[in-house]
Amino acid sequence: MISYGKQRFDLVLQPISGKAVAVHAGEVLRVIQLGGEQCVDFNACNLLDYKEKMDVGSSRGSTGFRPRKGDIIFSNPPRYRPMIGILEMPPSCQTDVLGRTCHATLYEMAFGLELHTSCQDTIAESISEYGLTPDDVHDSFNMWMNTEWDSTGRWWTVTNTGRKGDFVDLVAFFDILAVPVTCGSGDIRWTSNFSFKPLQIQIFEASAQTGAIVDQVNARHGGLKNQRTVDQFRVKEIKPDRELRPVPGWKPRFVNFPIQVENITVELSQAEYNKAESLQEQGLGNDVSDVVRRGVMIWCNKHLAARRQMKIVFP
Ligand SMILES: [Zn+2]
Repeated sequence: MISYGKQRFDLVLQPISGKAVAVHAGEVLRVIQLGGEQCVDFNACNLLDYKEKMDVGSSRGSTGFRPRKGDIIFSNPPRYRPMIGILEMPPSCQTDVLGRTCHATLYEMAFGLELHTSCQDTIAESISEYGLTPDDVHDSFNMWMNTEWDSTGRWWTVTNTGRKGDFVDLVAFFDILAVPVTCGSGDIRWTSNFSFKPLQIQIFEASAQTGAIVDQVNARHGGLKNQRTVDQFRVKEIKPDRELRPVPGWKPRFVNFPIQVENITVELSQAEYNKAESLQEQGLGNDVSDVVRRGVMIWCNKHLAARRQMKIVFP
């Protein structure tokens, strides 16, 4: 196991509560099951720019539907920087990035409950300490939430398998505001097996080893030209008013627009041409040119595209 710096924060999260805490680069947030079987919803944003948020949707491209030990969760594109890394996670912690953040209207719709705790409200209350609004709550990374799905696209939640004493360690790759909360669906859903239990959160200072992991991940998955910063945005200011109106005289500047198309002549032998025709008949393309273009691009995807493993390499 990686060694961390000294513990600088320790708090018991009573059921249906949460806490927004600053976690600095290289620091580790530990979330502990005090009673077991408790779902944890988690939000995070850049401590220096709250518009940069953890984005479990975009991160699904590399984490799949169940982020695991070693996985990296990124911030929202066009930032798309490594934000959080999972340093420790027991097998009994099933994770979820499909089941989103539960909110009060769901309980009113499903059960007619007009006053019920929800992760949306608990996160909103927690981040209001930092002047953020309920609209700043985003899609959660859910820990100890046992979601299943099938090929028709349906998903559902089954028994929470979290055990008392289980803990998850998350390292911050830059300074973040981290917001763990106890999920509000505990008493009426399988998410926490129909009861609320407390959690404990701790923060450990950065160590040489966590610093090395931050450096390693940033070296492998950071510093790309398209991981953009606000100074590269066309609109840099955050709109202070709520109503939307078009900007007078605005003209779009889409990337690489208008598209430039160049015809390339590819000479095929008779045998190659026959083969391409045969592939067309099998449905690989609309005509022989289309078959050749698709064939070249399939080859490029297989042989030229870099396969970046979006994982922490443990020392
Ligand atoms: Zn919830």
